[in-house]
Amino acid sequence: MARNLDAFIDTHAGDLISRLQQMVSIATVNPPGCDYASITSYLTHELSALGLQARRLPIPAKLLKATLPQSDHGCPRYNVLGQLPVRGAKKTIHFNAHYDVVPVSGTWRHGSPFSGAVSGGWIYGRGTADMKGSIASLLLALQALRATKTAPLMNVEVSFTADEETDSLLGAGWLVENAPIKPDYAIVMEGGELNRVCCGHNGVVWLEVTVHGKAAHGSTPQDGINALEKMSALVLALGDYKRKLARRTFITPEGETMKPTLNLGGVFSSGPGGKINTVPALARFSIDRRVLAVETVASAEADLRAFLQAAAKKIPQCHITVAKVSDNHPCFNAPDHPFFAAMADSVARVRREPAVFSVSSGFNDMHFFSHHLKIPTLGYGPGGEDIHAVNERARIKELLRAAKIYAELLTTFAG
Ligand SMILES: [Zn+2]
Repeated sequence: MARNLDAFIDTHAGDLISRLQQMVSIATVNPPGCDYASITSYLTHELSALGLQARRLPIPAKLLKATLPQSDHGCPRYNVLGQLPVRGAKKTIHFNAHYDVVPVSGTWRHGSPFSGAVSGGWIYGRGTADMKGSIASLLLALQALRATKTAPLMNVEVSFTADEETDSLLGAGWLVENAPIKPDYAIVMEGGELNRVCCGHNGVVWLEVTVHGKAAHGSTPQDGINALEKMSALVLALGDYKRKLARRTFITPEGETMKPTLNLGGVFSSGPGGKINTVPALARFSIDRRVLAVETVASAEADLRAFLQAAAKKIPQCHITVAKVSDNHPCFNAPDHPFFAAMADSVARVRREPAVFSVSSGFNDMHFFSHHLKIPTLGYGPGGEDIHAVNERARIKELLRAAKIYAELLTTFAG
């Protein structure tokens, strides 16, 4: 990459670390979604200082109340939008990260999970890896371009969005429908890291199955319909469905074989009035169906519902109702567009190793850009270790490399 950009980034690691520490110290824990006001005003300020037209986009109170009825105890939602028009540029690239983090627990190696302690080349804290580190890398890339008077070859849009750790409805989901953006390409700054560029991710369908029985006294169980026993038979039948799913495969561009999966009973419960001497009248369990990047949530859900109804029919007196808890779309971008080649080249030049195109088993916000805006979208960021766990951390060397890769892409790809 251009030597001056490379040198600037190396000599300004301190700026990246202090910004990341600042962000980590703002405990944007979701749920419930706290401190969004502070972090979005900080980020808006940072983007403005780097020469972008930046503003906070507040979620209207009415919509907030309708979407999160329990959250009227002072947890407003905001998304941040920054725009950098470049003279002569024909295309626009959009960088996105979420700024919320998952709750913390346990004892951390370097004190508070919100301290951003630096040790042995790593920075520790909730959000360092998922994904405030990505924001810090992007800000340093933008700072390097500005300081060296290097113009990007595309207009740059940046969004920092809320609520990815819950459902993104008021975050990236809201942004792609309501914000004044018109990107040609998008990078969600997670999902791919090191030499792996993410070109898609799995989706998910969450269902809740309720088995309805009939209560009776425990001394005369023959008078009731035992919902637990019916549920057990249904769960056993789902074993066949799992085997059927396992025959469905998707081979990713890097050659990994992915299969749809089913996780049963992450949540299960009996109905009200459960007692040791009562025949259970109700039993309920959850289903987490992971949807391949090339499947759709609609067909996955319809197929699973049909199987459940058919299986219940074969079990005497097994009456069920199935409710959807939520879903999240998968996405897959065949990496044959020049955008992907440009990103792979940027990764390879900075890391001095060939890049591969991966598909993530977990979901992230890529599908909002890919599906809703229908633009080539990839996932790439500095990543880290122990995401969502104790001692979450990011490697400072990787944060700097991600900054260089973003700067490299912005100065080599015109769209
Ligand atoms: Zn994340």
